[in-house]
Amino acid sequence: MKSEFPIPTLRRGPRGLALENVDLADIAAAHGTPTYVYSLAALTAAYQSWRDALGERRALVCYAVKANANLGVLSAFARLGAGFDIVSGGELTRVLAAGGSADKVVFSGVGKNAAEMRQALEAGIRCFNVESAAELERLAEVAAAMGKVAPISLRVNPDVDPKTHPYISTGLRNNKFGVAFDEALILYRRAAALPSLRVAGIDCHIGSQLLDGAPALEAAEKILGLVDRLAAEGIELEHIDLGGGLGIRYRDEEPPAVADYLAPLLAPFDGRREELMFEPGRSLVGNAGLLLTRIEYLKPGVEKNFAVIDAAMNDLARPALYDAWHDIVEVAPRASVRRYEVVGPVCESGDFLGRDRSLGVEAGDLLAVLSAGAYGMTMSSNYNSRPRAAEVIVDGAHAHLVRARETVEQLYAGEQPLA
Ligand SMILES: *Cc1c(COP(=O)(O)O)cnc(C)c1O
Repeated sequence: MKSEFPIPTLRRGPRGLALENVDLADIAAAHGTPTYVYSLAALTAAYQSWRDALGERRALVCYAVKANANLGVLSAFARLGAGFDIVSGGELTRVLAAGGSADKVVFSGVGKNAAEMRQALEAGIRCFNVESAAELERLAEVAAAMGKVAPISLRVNPDVDPKTHPYISTGLRNNKFGVAFDEALILYRRAAALPSLRVAGIDCHIGSQLLDGAPALEAAEKILGLVDRLAAEGIELEHIDLGGGLGIRYRDEEPPAVADYLAPLLAPFDGRREELMFEPGRSLVGNAGLLLTRIEYLKPGVEKNFAVIDAAMNDLARPALYDAWHDIVEVAPRASVRRYEVVGPVCESGDFLGRDRSLGVEAGDLLAVLSAGAYGMTMSSNYNSRPRAAEVIVDGAHAHLVRARETVEQLYAGEQPLA
């Protein structure tokens, strides 16, 4: 699957851009715009590249649900045998509704509340990735009150710099995630002494959109050192979870292939007995999806031309939030090319999806915003009372609507005018 685009299953056909064997123009005609469109073949290939790289090792790939939580996407990963990394009770409910099994779910996040803990204990998840001493105590109490034993892992903060955007860097000492290295030993001893907790593993996650494997390797080696110290005290771990974070190509980045990223990381684990886990999100879905949008107006300006599209920062927040780049391509390009600011209808100057882009377009034409499969729909909002986009999964020549476009009535269904 070689493509001129970062999305491996996107190609130019006689009727413009097609994802797998479905013309994007047909999706727009059937479902309107803006619409997120995902390729089942692309996300399957991404998952398979992780499985292939792990080979015969005892290892579980837990898809990080927050990257894209659509039930269609989750059911595809469940069928492939993936586990899931969740960060809320809502995500657990989605995983179970999509056919995922609780015993392959790990629960991350710094702020799990008691109700979420009860829900996860009831469901029988694989592991709680605990992030603080206070959370450990609360989980022990909640589990004890239910007469259950909670399997735990401590999210250890290895204090390595992943060299990514500061908002998505999570493994440095000064951020809110995980427990400090020195504190981890004390907390493991505490956990081992609490009858309602079972020490199952250890985990780390140093950041997102990593383009270099060295920081992850540094983190893995530090974690292994800790695992061996714990073993020396009689605390034996069943699994080691190295988190997610592998980056993708949005523009001209050159992230390592999964196999190249994993090879050095796996080497120190050769011959060890612990099961390995990973929590990739972006690398499984980012380049399996695009946001299909239509140009409402072209607005020539003195210094800049604007292409006003029907998608906005509420649909895809990454450009406004991180100044992130997404390729934007014409579904059916026209000969005359000009430079445009590609902006949405939202009342914010930060509402752009692309700046200074060369496009051959007329009003009414379709555009595809690429690499939008991860942290696209899941970070969307209803700002400006904009119903959220539809979502479609393409499988070969078939397009399945996996989320209907929201209606405005749904947006205020829980509201009430004052009596
Ligand atoms: C967000 C997150 C992930 C997934 O990160 P990606 O960069 O999308 O791979 C994995 N684990 C944890 C704990 C996370 O918070």
